[in-house]
Amino acid sequence: MAKEDYYDLLGVEKSASAEELKKAYRKKAVQFHPDKNPGDKAAEEMFKKVSHAYEVLSDAEKRAAYDRYGPAAFEGGAGAAGPRGGGGMGGGGFHDPFDIFREVFGQQGGRGGGGIFEEMFGGGGGGGGRDGADLRYDLEISLEEAARGVEKEISFRKQMACERCDGSGAEPGSKRVTCATCRGAGQVRRSGGIITFTQTCPSCGGAGTRIEKPCSGCRGEGRVARSTKLNVRIPPGVDTGSRLRSSGNGEAGLAGGQPGDLYIVLSVKEHELFERQGDDLFCEIPIKFTLASLGGSIEVPTLSGKAALKLPHGTQSGTTFRLRGRGMPSLRGGAQGDQLVRVQVEVPTALSSEQRRLLEEFARVSGDAAEPTSRSFFEKAKKFF
Ligand SMILES: [Zn+2]
Ligand SMILES: [Zn+2]
Repeated sequence: MAKEDYYDLLGVEKSASAEELKKAYRKKAVQFHPDKNPGDKAAEEMFKKVSHAYEVLSDAEKRAAYDRYGPAAFEGGAGAAGPRGGGGMGGGGFHDPFDIFREVFGQQGGRGGGGIFEEMFGGGGGGGGRDGADLRYDLEISLEEAARGVEKEISFRKQMACERCDGSGAEPGSKRVTCATCRGAGQVRRSGGIITFTQTCPSCGGAGTRIEKPCSGCRGEGRVARSTKLNVRIPPGVDTGSRLRSSGNGEAGLAGGQPGDLYIVLSVKEHELFERQGDDLFCEIPIKFTLASLGGSIEVPTLSGKAALKLPHGTQSGTTFRLRGRGMPSLRGGAQGDQLVRVQVEVPTALSSEQRRLLEEFARVSGDAAEPTSRSFFEKAKKFF
């Protein structure tokens, strides 16, 4: 979304009152409503923009944030509708612009429940149909699940086609009848002072017909909010931020519109042993100082069971070893990542009397013969003293 000023979009001053904002939004929303501008992408884009602008500025808290930080504070995923209070639906983003529209016009309450919206666009039985909104579901999985892939059942609320009327919005047994306002023409003549102009019929939205009796299950909308469950298959190799699209599993469309998509946004929980760096896994393993000195083999935990790691004698603390192909699978079909193992040499803190005796013996035998690395260190250090 472009970073346009929300006040400019609505055509109001920064000091506009809530009432002025609403008035400005109503004007713009009607002007750019897709039902009034069929097939006009630019108008639809404007409709979304003014709805988003109004959504932010009509909320005192959001408006304060906007005044401080500007549009950047509200850069949501364009097109991805926000939560509708359904269980498990997380994330920010904007609401469906059509919901905002209906909320504002519904408050007017012209006649019956639908208010001006129904008057202007003929409710669910209107013109060309409208596609359902996309939904976002935030899902947290473990690192093991991300490595192997997993199938998860998720449940959430969304607008689904009404079962009673099969999404038509008409009470079963009732018919569509010719619109009385336009007598089926879909357009009406209006007189604006000295000029007369035609416009899309406000009663039927240009369809020429209206629902005789709205469905009692959905009040003529053709869809209702219901809880639903869905099995999603998560492929191996996903990471935090990976987005899966479940086509057609968003909200139901209206009046024959296409359903939206469901986006599952993944986050991978932190693991107590492994830290992920791209497709590689990183872990730290403590080893005894005797093993570091003498060399030997240790068992290393990996996501696919234990692996043996050979340590050469004289292994220094902080040395990193690479276990090829023991990292995460590649989501794009590339080579599997590696596991990087960094060893930390542990110096014993409590010694038994025998251990102490043996170490003192070790020190005596070693004498002043320093190790090669410490010898070069002391040579450099001499320059400072
Ligand atoms: Zn219904
Ligand atoms: Zn009509």
